[in-house]
Amino acid sequence: MENDEIKVYEFEHLKKVPHVVHGIFTRTGGTSRGVYDSLNIGMESGDEKASISNNRKLIIRKMGMKPLVFLNQIHGAEIKVLKKDDNDLSQVFEPGKETYTADAIITDMKGLFLVIQVADCQSVMLYDPDKEIIANIHSGWRGSVLNIIGQCVGKMVLEFGCLPENILAGISPSLGPCCSEFINYKNEIPGYLWKYKHKDKDFFDFWAMSRDQLMEKGVKNENIQNMEICTKCHTDVFYSYRGEKTTGRFACVISMI
Ligand SMILES: [Zn+2]
Repeated sequence: MENDEIKVYEFEHLKKVPHVVHGIFTRTGGTSRGVYDSLNIGMESGDEKASISNNRKLIIRKMGMKPLVFLNQIHGAEIKVLKKDDNDLSQVFEPGKETYTADAIITDMKGLFLVIQVADCQSVMLYDPDKEIIANIHSGWRGSVLNIIGQCVGKMVLEFGCLPENILAGISPSLGPCCSEFINYKNEIPGYLWKYKHKDKDFFDFWAMSRDQLMEKGVKNENIQNMEICTKCHTDVFYSYRGEKTTGRFACVISMI
């Protein structure tokens, strides 16, 4: 059935790069049932492990049977750097487990698929066409407060000599300014970020915050694409923690081939 097919969203600028393969998977086309219906890859979501492993295998198949690296994401600021010269990757290709505890990953390795799993948080994908480096970042509100996006760009500069003005960036479907209500923001969000709050309501614009965090590091505005799809407004297509509480995680994947 057409409704059950795996669907993938892509960024226009990354789509034009022949050797970059990426995709935002939806919740459609997997084997999970009930609130997890159906392409849930979140190992800690409460869903049946067999379904999650099976869904991960479906994504691996869709990506051409290449190794996928899943992270144990903890809303921290740990950034994993995988360099082709100093890594034994025999252990990463296991769909049933998370390989590293980190909330961002950067690599110069071809054929390795970097996965971020989300349900309202942002996956921010980066690609430097000059140095041939990719990164994938998990940034929820805690990540925004930690500026993991800026830290990741900084690490690309430090570790690989990337120039930020060359970097292409994409912001995945995630919680939009329409739904980002933070009634406890005075305890959760530092004052210097309150400029992203709606003037009359306790709603924050994390999309604008991420764009600014990229631009503060030198990424060009025109090289940043945001799909501007709010997950909470579109629970028919994506998982939303805010919208559904008990729910799955969808996959955001990028690789150089
Ligand atoms: Zn919304």
